[in-house]
Amino acid sequence: MNIRSLRFKLGWNHGLIISVVFVCIGLIRYQTVSYRARSSFDQDLQSDAGLLASHLKPGSNGIEVDDNGLPVHETLTLESLRRYFVVTDTRGNVLGQNTMGRYIEEMVSRKALDKILRQKGGFGQAVAADGTIFRFVNLPLSADDGLSSLVLHVGRPMDALQTTMEEYYLNYVISVPLILFISVLVGWFLAGRALRPFEYVTQTAKQITSKNLNTQIFTKSTEVEIQELVQSFNAMAARLNRSFQQIRKFNADVAHELRTPLSIMQGENEIALRSKSLPEEIRSVLSSNLEELGRLTRIVNDLLTLSEAEAGHQVIVKRPINLKPLLQDLVEQMRVLAMDRNIQIEFVNPPNALIQGDALWIRRAFLNLLDNAIKYSKEQSKIVVEGLVDDHTVRLWIQDSGIGIPAEDIPYIFDRLYRADPARSKVTPGSGLGLALVKWIVEAHDGEIKVSSHPDRGSNFEVVFPLLAA
Ligand code: ADP
Repeated sequence: MNIRSLRFKLGWNHGLIISVVFVCIGLIRYQTVSYRARSSFDQDLQSDAGLLASHLKPGSNGIEVDDNGLPVHETLTLESLRRYFVVTDTRGNVLGQNTMGRYIEEMVSRKALDKILRQKGGFGQAVAADGTIFRFVNLPLSADDGLSSLVLHVGRPMDALQTTMEEYYLNYVISVPLILFISVLVGWFLAGRALRPFEYVTQTAKQITSKNLNTQIFTKSTEVEIQELVQSFNAMAARLNRSFQQIRKFNADVAHELRTPLSIMQGENEIALRSKSLPEEIRSVLSSNLEELGRLTRIVNDLLTLSEAEAGHQVIVKRPINLKPLLQDLVEQMRVLAMDRNIQIEFVNPPNALIQGDALWIRRAFLNLLDNAIKYSKEQSKIVVEGLVDDHTVRLWIQDSGIGIPAEDIPYIFDRLYRADPARSKVTPGSGLGLALVKWIVEAHDGEIKVSSHPDRGSNFEVVFPLLAA
C-alpha cells in the first residue's frame, strides 16, 4: 500500500468524510435525544408532584400523604415519591421531618438542598452523598388543603436517565473508529475499481517504446475521463510515431544521398594518387583525404544500415547456425588485427550451441564487439572471449582490460552516434554506431546484451541468445 497513491488518498478521504458526517449527525442526535429525555423526565416529575400535592394533608406527625381510595397506579406513584419529598415554608424551613426518606434527610442535613428549598417554583438539581443526582420540582401548596404558605419539593433520582444517555454516548464513541475503518475499506475498494482503467492505460503506456509507437490503447470503459485520456494518449503516440518515422526516413535519405558523392570522391582521389608526377605534399594530403573519406563512407553505410534496420527494411534470414565454428573463425581473423598492438585474444569454452539466426548479422555483431575490445584495449593486454551453454540459452562474454567506460556513459553507449568521453574517442577511430547496430542485431534474434565496465579496468559485454529448441 503506497500512502502517496491516489487510491490511498481517495480511500482515506472517503473514510474521513463519512466519519466526520457520522460524528456530526451523532452529536446532533445525542443533543436532541438528551433534550427530549430531560423534558419528558421533567414533565413526568411535574405531573407526579401535582398528584402528590393534591394528596397531602396536615397530620399528627406533620404533613402526611393521604392515599386512601386511590386507583392502583396512582397509589404506586405516590409510593415511589413518598421517600423523596420535603415540605417547607416559603422561607425554606423544613416541616414534617419524619416523613422524609433517607436521601432527602441526608441532603437537608448537609445543606445540599438549601437553594432548592428556598425556591417556590421551577426545577433544580442536587447531588446525594453517594453521587446520585436528584432532580427536584418545587410546587406551592394550595390553601384549600389547609397548607397555605407551604411549598412542596419533590425529587427523583436521575441515574436511570443518565445511564441510558451514557450508554448511548459510549456506543457512539466506540462505533466511530469502526465506521472509519469500514468506510476507508469501502473507499479503498471503490477507488481501486474506479482507477483500474487508468492502471491499464499506465501498463500499456509503459510497454510502448520507439519500436512500437504505433501501439494504440483500447479500453472498454465508457467513462468520459478515461475515454478522453485514452484518446489523447493515442493521438500523442500517433504524433510521436509520425515524427520518429520522419527522423528515420531523413537519416536514411541523407545517408543514401551521401553515398554516391562519397564514392565519386574516393574514386577521383584514387585516380589522382596514381599519377607519378604528383608532388609529395599533395600526395600526402590526398592519402589523408582518402583515409577520411573511407571513414566517412563507413559511417554513412552504418547509418544507412541502422536506419533501414530500424525501419524494418533490412532482411534477416534465420536458419539454424552453430555459434562455435562461426565465432572460432571470427576470433582467428581478429587475432591478426589484434597482433598489430600486441593484444592476445583467448577463446575459452567455444560454445557448441545451435541458435536460430542469420550468420552474417551475428558475425557482424561479434565483429563490432571484438573490434571495440581491441580498439579500447591497452597494448600488450589480453581479451577473453568465453562461452557458456545452459538449458535454454547460450551466453558469451567479451572481456577486455582496456580503458573501460565511465558509469555515467553506460546507459547511452547503445544509442546511435554516442561516443563516451569525447577526448579519448578523438584518438580512437569510430562512429558511435557500432553498438547501436549490435543491440539491434541481438534483439532481432530475441537475445539480450548487457555491459559491466570500470574505467581503466576494462569492460565486459555479455550477449545471451535463446538456444534453438530441440
Ligand atoms: P565507436 O565507433 O565509437 O566505437 P560504438 O557504438 O561501437 O562506437 O561504441 C560507443 C562507445 O562506447 C564508444 O565510443 C566507446 O566510448 C564505448 N565503448 C564501446 N566498447 C567499448 C570497450 N570495449 N571499452 C571501452 N569503451 C567502449
